[in-house]
Amino acid sequence: MQRNLKFWGTIVAVLSLLQAAVAFLVPKGSALTLSSEAIDVALHVAATLAFLHNARTSSGRISIFWYLQASCWGTLTVTSSLWMYYGVVLHQEVPSVFVGDIFLFLAGVPMLAGLLLRPDRRSISDAPLRFLDLPLLVLWWLFLYFFFVTPWQYVVPDEVRYGPSYNTLLLAEDLVSIGLLLLLWRDSFGKWKRFYCNLLAAEMLSAGSAYLANRAIDANLYFPGSWYDVLIDISIAWFVLSAFLGSGLLPEASAEDHPDEKAGRWMTRVAMIAVLSIPPLTAWSLLGGSAPPAVTKFRVLVALGMITLMGCLIFLKQHGLAEELAKTNHILHEASLTDPLTGCRNRRYFDSTIEADVSHVQRCFADGRDESRRDLIFYLIDADHFKDINDRYGHEVGDKVLVEMSRRISSAIRLSDILVRWGGEEFLVISRYTDRNEGEILANRLLAAIANRPFVAGARENQVNLTCSVGWAAFPWLAGNPDALSYAEVLALADRALYDAKQAGRNCAIGMRASGKCITNPTAGQVSAVPS
Ligand code: GH3
Ligand code: MG
Ligand code: MG
Repeated sequence: MQRNLKFWGTIVAVLSLLQAAVAFLVPKGSALTLSSEAIDVALHVAATLAFLHNARTSSGRISIFWYLQASCWGTLTVTSSLWMYYGVVLHQEVPSVFVGDIFLFLAGVPMLAGLLLRPDRRSISDAPLRFLDLPLLVLWWLFLYFFFVTPWQYVVPDEVRYGPSYNTLLLAEDLVSIGLLLLLWRDSFGKWKRFYCNLLAAEMLSAGSAYLANRAIDANLYFPGSWYDVLIDISIAWFVLSAFLGSGLLPEASAEDHPDEKAGRWMTRVAMIAVLSIPPLTAWSLLGGSAPPAVTKFRVLVALGMITLMGCLIFLKQHGLAEELAKTNHILHEASLTDPLTGCRNRRYFDSTIEADVSHVQRCFADGRDESRRDLIFYLIDADHFKDINDRYGHEVGDKVLVEMSRRISSAIRLSDILVRWGGEEFLVISRYTDRNEGEILANRLLAAIANRPFVAGARENQVNLTCSVGWAAFPWLAGNPDALSYAEVLALADRALYDAKQAGRNCAIGMRASGKCITNPTAGQVSAVPS
């Protein structure tokens, strides 16, 4: 890159010096015109190639940014070639109402669009939708040209009105570019700041020298190869050097995301103001303007066409926003029902679904459906002596053990069962469509899933032995009277059973049933039932 910089730096410096030498040494005439126009075209080509080189050696949004800059310079090369054609081949001055003027104006459009992409920023969250604001702004910029300039060029050709309209719009374009570069320079860091600073300086020199040249043209002082051209060519050389300073730059990791979002909202607001400016401008043309009817008609047609195009873009954006909102809502909804550590359901999920499960069970009992699979069993599972694990291995290992514990419970239950993280190291399994007489089978599976093999966690792959206690109870409490106890009361009974399991020495499960307590103790390898 350094070698590239030296090589291109030398070339553009030589070209600029040559332009200065030619302006100084060669008298006004066709030789001066030829040499200065040739140098001018060569500098434009160098700028196009420099930005193209950056585009080809980068990717993603940055590459689009460089391609847009290259197309700006490609368009300017067309303009300078046209000027050379007039000066060298036709030996004429460029007419004041010139077909090629639009290229000079259009060149600014990709340049501005590229800058609005913020190539220096890494995280632009709403990039695809933000891209739709760009064409809106581009269309608006074109609208201004068609509205203010084109009528005096083609509809009712009028040199006197054309010149000031065109120059004002071009000046506005330059001022917008300078303003935008100032903002980017202020908001960027490191090498990007240096790059924007150089681009800003080049743009200011270019705008200033173009302004001076225009004044000189008005005063009949300008001729190809005059000192005005030297200034313009130095500014182009500066653009080439800026391109090489920007070569290989990657987006900066911004410390926070919100400035990008702010930038996104800012662009959307400007785009909306741009759209809203079209009706008042059209009203002014219809009611207050002094333009001939043909111009007014043309302007109204341009406004209608642009509003239609912009409406289509806004429709697309609205559609995209609605989709994104639905997706985000879904993600947020899922997150609000999920435990962040273990990924299983949380209490909020339980609260929002339990009523439906309870009503389903009550309907089954009321209808007298298949008696074998209509119960709802609550299993409360609490890790034994979990505090010791935290104390011995640290909280982080404790967290990993909890995650693994939830995984093991998940694989012990059926797909139709629900696993909820009930509290710190306490889980609730809601077993649906089941039979209270088989309640201890799952209880036993749960005990075995936790106790049968040690947990491996932590950087040292610690082997952690863990057991759990389980308390369970079936809803409805009484099969013959489903409304006897509420689900909350049955859950409280499961909690009481868990307490009893802890009291009974841990690593065991106790089930509460109206017919009696059911104790599952894997160490003793027995399942017993005692009257409650
Ligand atoms: P017991 O056998 O009586 O249940 O003993 P225990 O040590 O497990 O006691 P208890 O259930 O009352 O304590 C829960 C402990 O679990 C306290 C807390 O340090 C730990 N804990 C709770 N939530 C988390 C968590 O998210 N991560 C970690 N690492 N530990 C947790
Ligand atoms: Mg515990
Ligand atoms: Mg606990």
